[in-house]
Amino acid sequence: MVPFVRPFWKLVLFSTLANLLFSVSNAMVLAIVEPVFRTLFGGDAAGAATRTVPAAASGLKAQFDAFLSSFIEMATYGESIRNISIIIFVLFLVRGLTKYLGNIISTRLEEGIMKSIRDALFGHITQQSLDFFSKRKAGDIISLLTNDVGVLNHATVNSVTTLWREATTLIIYIVLLTIISAKLLAISLGVALCGLLLIRMFTKLLRTYGARLQAAQAEYTSTLQESILGIRVIKGMSVEPHFVSRFMSQTGQYVRRALKNTRVMGLIPVVNDTFGILALVTVFYVGGMEREAGNITPSNLVTFLFLLFGLMQPISVLVNTIAGMQRGIAAGANVASALDEAPTIASGSHSAASLQPKIDVHNVTFAYSDAPVLRDISFQVQEGETVALVGSSGSGKSTMLDLFLRFYDPQEGSITVDGKDIRSLDLASYRTLFGVVSQETILFNDTISNNISLGVEGADQSAIEAAARVAHAYGFITEMPNGFQTKIGDRGLRLSGGQRQRIAIARALFRNPRILLFDEATSALDTESERLVQDAIDSVLARRTAIVVAHRLSTIMKAHRILVFDQGRIVEQGTHSQLLEQNGTYARLHALQFANPS
Ligand code: ADP
Ligand code: MG
Repeated sequence: MVPFVRPFWKLVLFSTLANLLFSVSNAMVLAIVEPVFRTLFGGDAAGAATRTVPAAASGLKAQFDAFLSSFIEMATYGESIRNISIIIFVLFLVRGLTKYLGNIISTRLEEGIMKSIRDALFGHITQQSLDFFSKRKAGDIISLLTNDVGVLNHATVNSVTTLWREATTLIIYIVLLTIISAKLLAISLGVALCGLLLIRMFTKLLRTYGARLQAAQAEYTSTLQESILGIRVIKGMSVEPHFVSRFMSQTGQYVRRALKNTRVMGLIPVVNDTFGILALVTVFYVGGMEREAGNITPSNLVTFLFLLFGLMQPISVLVNTIAGMQRGIAAGANVASALDEAPTIASGSHSAASLQPKIDVHNVTFAYSDAPVLRDISFQVQEGETVALVGSSGSGKSTMLDLFLRFYDPQEGSITVDGKDIRSLDLASYRTLFGVVSQETILFNDTISNNISLGVEGADQSAIEAAARVAHAYGFITEMPNGFQTKIGDRGLRLSGGQRQRIAIARALFRNPRILLFDEATSALDTESERLVQDAIDSVLARRTAIVVAHRLSTIMKAHRILVFDQGRIVEQGTHSQLLEQNGTYARLHALQFANPS
């Protein structure tokens, strides 16, 4: 937490001050109980009599009494009563104002800290390598940024301010109590200590329960998120009830865990109050004896009891806050472990900006976990060449493209661009060498223009339109009512599959990349849009360096070289006619997949 709190030190200071003032005024309210009693019951003469300070009282108490008396004990009873009324009113006013101010400052502090934690988390998560995301459910990551950061705020930052405020109140009270009677204080603290030990056991339990509660929250968030993303499948297959019941059982689990948490948490104030009253009663009894022995004045005993009673609230708040913090600590642990995770793909230091698009793949072997999905792959791509990767589903073609982008690093072998190992290159500058169209078209909730120029502020509109033209997207975009300024709904739902893919192609072209990586996905397209996409790809590939996972015969036939993948190996390579002559895997694939022109 410290690095996140440090920038807010001024607010922390103000909040500390406001809370200190609150505590002081709070204690003062109780400290004037004795003089009030004295004035009310004794009048002037009697007041002067009882004011003879008992031997046990220290000089500090005498000074404090004298200080108060200078305000309260006036010449006449009426004036004293008037002054007391004014002082009580002012004290409560200060108490209220400082509490209000303290709350406002704490909120600014909390929201500020929470924002910087969220921002840091989002920044850190986007820096992670792809394996980070495949290891986790998207819902868990979302839950981390929303639920966990939220709880962290309420249970940690909030608590620190509360802890500070109540702890200062507590200290002031204890100082006042010590002044009046150290012996009575020791007795009451002894009783309270027994209660605190019991409560300590509960807080340990609460930490475990808090972690479980956070996990339950992540689970239903995950289901919510998956259901929204997969709503077409869910509706299409009429499986809404299945998802609703899954969600309901997860929210049910959450409720059960929340109850379990509260059952322990609820015990804490009960234990707290019981031991508090026990301490009070003990002091009443022992103090009564002391009073009879003449060791303490009645008004001092009454003040002591008032203070002790007043002490119960801050202690109770303190103990509850500490109990609530356990959930925050559990959430904080999740946040901290995400922040500590380093990306598995490390950036190199050399800039890739001036490299020529000549690619060499040397004996690459790659596995996601145990079994390799690419084995001993070697090939070259010269500048201006189009190389097509073909092969049955699951043969490793998309994985090969991921290795070019350094989404993963191979376990054996290497990839070089213009003779440089890609691991030695600065990751961000290296990736901008590529224009990528992946199997799944992802568009963002923004205008078509901004989707094409993704992330480039103030992009040149004519460059956007030029990219759209090459991608055969210009026509349908300009036919829309708002043209390039049309907003695409979440994930591009308002566009057909073919239109979305052509926008994705325009996006890949917009930055004028040196190398194109295409993963043709035809399965989602109807014949008409497939032909349009195919035309777009064909016109894009002319004279460019490209590696294309090809499903379409026209792309394959225009490729300079075809690499045939089978179970992670390149089993054949050559041109379309050479491969057909070999009458091997390619010829079989061709007969099955490509022979019927679409
Ligand atoms: P293709 O694109 O040729 O259909 P892929 O490269 O997508 O094949 O997949 C090759 C193999 O790697 C498949 O067996 C697939 O199940 C596996 N695979 C793909 N992506 C992952 C991943 N993120 N984690 C683990 N295994 C994966
Ligand atoms: Mg694939």
